[in-house]
Amino acid sequence: MGNLDFLCDFKENIVDQYEKCKAYKVICDSQNYNPTTDFSDEGSIEKVPFLVTTVFKKSADLFYNLLRVSPSELDKWTVSSSTSGDPSIVGRRNEDILKLKEVVSLDNKILDPYCDYNCVFYPTPYDMKNYRSIKIMNKPTESYIGNMLDIFSEIFDLKYNPIFLLKPYEGEFRIDIDAFEDFIKTHNKKNHHLALRGSTILIYNAVQYLKKYMKPVQLGAKALVHTGGGGWDGKKGSISIGSKIERWKFVEEVSEFLGIPQENFVDTYSFTENSFPITGHYSSKFKSYLFHIPRWGRVIIRDVKTLKPLHNVHDRGLLQMLNAYGTSSFAGASVLVDDLAEIVSNDRCPECGREGMVIKILGRVKGSEAKGCGATLNVGGNKSEN
Ligand SMILES: [Zn+2]
Repeated sequence: MGNLDFLCDFKENIVDQYEKCKAYKVICDSQNYNPTTDFSDEGSIEKVPFLVTTVFKKSADLFYNLLRVSPSELDKWTVSSSTSGDPSIVGRRNEDILKLKEVVSLDNKILDPYCDYNCVFYPTPYDMKNYRSIKIMNKPTESYIGNMLDIFSEIFDLKYNPIFLLKPYEGEFRIDIDAFEDFIKTHNKKNHHLALRGSTILIYNAVQYLKKYMKPVQLGAKALVHTGGGGWDGKKGSISIGSKIERWKFVEEVSEFLGIPQENFVDTYSFTENSFPITGHYSSKFKSYLFHIPRWGRVIIRDVKTLKPLHNVHDRGLLQMLNAYGTSSFAGASVLVDDLAEIVSNDRCPECGREGMVIKILGRVKGSEAKGCGATLNVGGNKSEN
């Protein structure tokens, strides 16, 4: 696994998807595309047809058509945490989740996995996965974030009894703010190697709340704040704070109250229809998180209106993610999501010098931009109904 050959493995994956998922084949055929003959090298990657994430929505009623295997071979349907009541539904097998863990473990330095203390703003992976689980074609639904939590919990080797702050309460979850207060008081001025991980909104809210009646703490230079699962638009699942959280504002305020340096803030980005997560470290110069694209995945930024690939630094567009691993049960090899991203560099991180593409995530496309791309996004949905 360490010496993975992305292009070779990606080709295998896209050919398999073409052969096993009829809906994807329909899209390829309509573009006169056949991955067996048309995919050869890095230069041909932009021509690979993509599916838009909207086709995985429950309301599109196509998720069954986007499988590569029969539902009886699935282990679960992973679902997104939907604010609108219209989640994405993606059929998965456990072997794909394990593959993902293997890949993420190859390089997890930014995530600082071996902290001595972890305080997590999520429920336990078990509680999260099983939250409101139902059966579809005899297979259980599971929260995708719950599955990611599971992977990260194993990678982080949470041996020192991590604190999961979200406790089940009357069919929902309730945050144990006292446990958080205890945690930060216990570690105040001790310079411990610790991490606060989890939901952006919940971390932000907890800090805003405690700020009102206690003095800031000093968790020190070895502490890390690792957010994941989105929420920057102020909404996540059933929680809404009514306004967007600016990334720089989050980092400045949380950094100040907890006494953790701004460069120790990291954020993980992924979505239910995708496989490999990407992680960014905060840059006070760029006032945003700089996400490194790892060697086991590729990202293409596409113009919001024309959907043509963009290549220049500062270009902004829709995010397409190409997966070689972890999508053996569904058509997830090439997906376009309605999140906007900006190219920071095509080859090297301007802050830490690491090689590879670097992007900023800007958030959900909206307003007039959404109209333009919404029309385009629906084309994929109609086609795959055949
Ligand atoms: Zn970097």
